[in-house]
Amino acid sequence: MRTPDWGWLPIGAVPEAASCCKDEGTEVVFARFGGEDAVFARGDGALYRDLSGLRLSGGGKICPPNHENRLALGAHLPHTAPRALGRACASFGLGDRLGLCARAHLEALRGTPLKPVLAQQSLRELTFMRRSYAGVIDAAAYGVFRAGWRGGWGADGDHLKTLDAIRAALEQGCTMITLDGSDALGEPAPGGAFADLPEERRAALLADYLGDPAAVRLGLRFDLEILARLFDLYEPCVALAERAHREAILPAGREVDLEISLDETAEVTTHEAHYFVARELTRRGVPYVGVAPRFVGEFHKAVDYIGSLPELERDLAAHAAVAAHFGHKLSVHSGSDKFSAYPVIARAAGERYHIKTSGTSWLCAVEVLARTEPALYRRMYACALAHFAEAKRAYVVHADPARLPDIETLPDARLGETLFSDDARQLMHITYGFLFAGEPLAKDLRRALERRQNELETAVTRHIRAHVAALGYAQNGPRQDEQEE
Ligand code: ZN
Repeated sequence: MRTPDWGWLPIGAVPEAASCCKDEGTEVVFARFGGEDAVFARGDGALYRDLSGLRLSGGGKICPPNHENRLALGAHLPHTAPRALGRACASFGLGDRLGLCARAHLEALRGTPLKPVLAQQSLRELTFMRRSYAGVIDAAAYGVFRAGWRGGWGADGDHLKTLDAIRAALEQGCTMITLDGSDALGEPAPGGAFADLPEERRAALLADYLGDPAAVRLGLRFDLEILARLFDLYEPCVALAERAHREAILPAGREVDLEISLDETAEVTTHEAHYFVARELTRRGVPYVGVAPRFVGEFHKAVDYIGSLPELERDLAAHAAVAAHFGHKLSVHSGSDKFSAYPVIARAAGERYHIKTSGTSWLCAVEVLARTEPALYRRMYACALAHFAEAKRAYVVHADPARLPDIETLPDARLGETLFSDDARQLMHITYGFLFAGEPLAKDLRRALERRQNELETAVTRHIRAHVAALGYAQNGPRQDEQEE
């Protein structure tokens, strides 16, 4: 391979070779220069004209890695733009609250067939971190550009509950929408409750489900009572999904992955309920890629699966059979650190799954800071403790403040050990918004993360790789990004 010629870059610029690419007469490369990150461009193509920046005396341009320039890169270099990934791949969601971990995430998936959904944030996370979907996608896109990743990636507007939120996420570039049906469940259905439906409609629905050979084959049981209950509970969610498709996604005029999430609900999703939702969506012609049921046991944030693994395996297998019947993906949320459940998921779902992890790279950052920035970590811990009760209102966790390690008595060298405790992991997992809410802590945190960027990336890659390995992927396969294009 020819070594690229960097002679056109200003003296002192440190280019990242993996990012270098050409588009019809324009060459671009990401580089560090004068303590700042920048995109350097030269040539006479449309990409060169569309990137905005300062002209260099030796020819070429230095362009800030901002939103407008990200859009320009995406328009000319399709690999840097998010896209819908469809049903026919296993995919992995990697939320990045800090916007610092995209390259580490990609590195962890290299050599596996898993497709990354890099920009994956819920409104709750955006609010806590004062970010927008556009900014989240910017961070991910520059990570993709720098890594030279060519395997495709998605951007997920996670856990959205209203059409307005979906429209806003799509306008800002999301390619996946996770519709959270939890608020809709059990709300009055637009066409009325099951008991209020016209007699023929009820009879037709009943005949439809009772006489469905696929349902019988899947071992599902429907009778009048079950169907009436499923209808009253899930019909409003199906109706919302149909509206989301017709009134928000279709007008966007591009391919979007729609996932229906039922996971943040009080009750476990029955296999019949999963089937009902999928069948009704299909019947109404609503294209969707996946369903996230609430499985048996507990998928709490930042800790391993809580419950019986054999029971989980039976539950997953039955859900996976429903998903296979309709051809959609089984989506597993709160997937961070569920190491004991991963082999079970892989066995049950084959390659028809989407797994979401979100706070896990933030926790890696916390671990790095506990190890390397003890004074700062003590301030973070105190702030987290002070806001624990408040943070708990937004998240389902079982952490008990009474069991938290007392860090006052711990020497600096042992601060990292605090995160061996599930209680402390959950404490730090859910209070991030408060840590970044006030100065000077927020500024000190950002500076420390910048100083520790290399350690952070190493820790994140190692941690996500452990997840990928638990799914059964050794990373010696062909590089996914080299297979495509
Ligand atoms: Zn979820």
